[in-house]
Amino acid sequence: MKRCELPYASWGFHEFRGAIAALASGQLRHGPAIDQLENQLGERLGASRVVAVDSGRSALKIGLETLAGLRPDRHEVIVPAYICPAVVSAVKSAGLRPIPAEVSHDLNLRLDSARERIGDQTLAILVAHMYGAPADIAGFESLAKEAGLFLVDDAAQVVGETVNGRALGTFGDFGVISFAQSKCLVTGESGGGGALICQNGELLSGVSSRVATLDPASARGKAFIAFIWNYLLTPYTDKATYYWRRFRPATPHATAPARIANLDAKTALCQLASLNSRRNARLFILESYARHLGAYGLTLPQYAPGRYLARIMVRLPPGADVESCRQHLRRHAMTTRPGYPPFLDKTDAPAYARETARRLLELPAAASMTQADIARVGERLSEVLRSSAFG
Ligand SMILES: *Cc1c(COP(=O)(O)O)cnc(C)c1O
Repeated sequence: MKRCELPYASWGFHEFRGAIAALASGQLRHGPAIDQLENQLGERLGASRVVAVDSGRSALKIGLETLAGLRPDRHEVIVPAYICPAVVSAVKSAGLRPIPAEVSHDLNLRLDSARERIGDQTLAILVAHMYGAPADIAGFESLAKEAGLFLVDDAAQVVGETVNGRALGTFGDFGVISFAQSKCLVTGESGGGGALICQNGELLSGVSSRVATLDPASARGKAFIAFIWNYLLTPYTDKATYYWRRFRPATPHATAPARIANLDAKTALCQLASLNSRRNARLFILESYARHLGAYGLTLPQYAPGRYLARIMVRLPPGADVESCRQHLRRHAMTTRPGYPPFLDKTDAPAYARETARRLLELPAAASMTQADIARVGERLSEVLRSSAFG
């Protein structure tokens, strides 16, 4: 049975060759790829200053701490109520309080809900482009300007997509991107890399002086081997990975930010070079899913013709049990993932985000999947929904 995997990472010959060259030259931590990556990302995004660090959350922490230094009287950051838990912990690690605001059906922060949450403690609004679907970032830019707040453009899940001709991540005061698994450019598991895009000149000196004290991430050679084993060889290592993880739990993500390591910068450069072709492969898979799932009355809430999505989320009918769907698909060698858990206690989280989070299921979308594979995923999914009487 052919396996249908989640899109953890899509590496080709160049990524392996680049990484092996960095390993062989002994330039694991320090090396020329770091500057090259910053320059190429700057060019690609049309950004004035890009600083490559070890993760998206490090970029968020550095940027938010710098913002807080400029307005020390303010402690709150408005964030989407449906969000990657790493964002919430990054806000907290910067000594700030995340304030959730409602999201709309595309899972992005709603402008009107964000506006309602603005108070005299509000430092910034953090807007994320969930799973790559662009948020109304230009609208938020106007809102932030009008309200005298900072704006963070969290493009962790998307690289190279534009709104009004401007790349996501380059709006507001600073932006971030991430090179963790399942993102657009993948260098490894979380901790492999990310970048801070600094657009506000007032912020730049604060960010630069923080970054100047950082060393490149360490122990990346070991992390590289673990990543290849856990993600790139999953079709062959499933059982072994289970035992590997049991006996060697993943090293916890370092809490102190670091610069990106040369090894990871090297693979990020290769991923940047293959971004366009990987984007086209994803669009093909998306169009195909939209057609097949539509036939069963299932919808992709973030889908729009021609729009890139980093991950493909289906919203199951009310009452459907995500876990039994996942089990059924797993029996057919199809891997899936549920949505993010609501980050606040049940009573405080905005209603739509809370309700929707429980109904999202991420579908397999590895680049190797064909039309026939996608049709099979649709069939199996509709089968389990019918049999559990929810469909
Ligand atoms: C993954 C992610 C981050 C954090 O990136 P890491 O590199 O894993 O630290 C931040 N924001 C969003 C929206 C993300 O999806």
